[in-house]
Amino acid sequence: MDLEHKAIERLQEAARLSEFYYQAPLLLTYSGGKDSEVCLELCRRARVPFEAIHNLTTADAPETIYHVKKTFRRLELEGIRCEILSPVYKGRPVSMWTLIPLKRVPPTRRMRYCCAVAKEGSNRNRCVVLGVRKYESTARADSGVAELPGQNRGSKVLFDFDNGDERIIAPCQMKATIKIHPIVDWSDCDVWQFLQDAQIQVNPCYAMGFRRVGCVGCPMAGKNRYAEFRQWPKFENLYRKAFGRMVDARRLIGKDGPWQNADEVFRWWMEDKNLDGQLDIFGGEVGGDA
Ligand code: SF4
Repeated sequence: MDLEHKAIERLQEAARLSEFYYQAPLLLTYSGGKDSEVCLELCRRARVPFEAIHNLTTADAPETIYHVKKTFRRLELEGIRCEILSPVYKGRPVSMWTLIPLKRVPPTRRMRYCCAVAKEGSNRNRCVVLGVRKYESTARADSGVAELPGQNRGSKVLFDFDNGDERIIAPCQMKATIKIHPIVDWSDCDVWQFLQDAQIQVNPCYAMGFRRVGCVGCPMAGKNRYAEFRQWPKFENLYRKAFGRMVDARRLIGKDGPWQNADEVFRWWMEDKNLDGQLDIFGGEVGGDA
């Protein structure tokens, strides 16, 4: 069976579970990136009922927001319910720029608290469709077609969805969040080939030369952030200001260092000293929680 048919079968089976146990359609998390674009087209081809959400991070490139809004307008005309969700932390609306001083550390590869707040915080107890792929990164290499998220990566439960794993029924009966990854085994090449064959208009950031179209300045983008800040300089300013407020917030609780000002934080952060083993600068600190 080819990849497309396999993915469609997964979605159709997930839609049956969703309808039977949740009495609700599948919930597609659409980021505006290529993988969620493929999932959107597959949901259509599978002819399953679905709704779509987009989680705003407030650091999204303007082109991404525009692309999401355009896609959602088109979907709504087709009768598909769409929603754009703003980030909330501890019951209060936040942005990347207010979250950084609240957390009192910059977001890093190892401390992606912004994703936890903006993207994972909106998880609902539904069958949620995501464009996660094993080949994206080593962190995602252990992803399955269907997952029950745990408190951390190590405690998540993977189901052998393609082979009718009956254990998946229990969390569905409890109406827990079940993550469905229909293209988990697709390569980059499979994704681009599918989008090209389907003649889908992708996020314009790809044509601008960016391989990731998530947040501007995402620590996962490493050195590519220099190019992002050249393209969208206002975001550099926003990070610098947030880092300045973060240094002040640290001082208020008696943490006078390791940085003295926003510029020092920015330089440390851009030099990507976020790799494993280099966070000792915090002495094991994992972020505040005002
Ligand atoms: S900056 Fe990166 S880690 Fe943070 S919300 Fe955006 S994509 Fe997630």
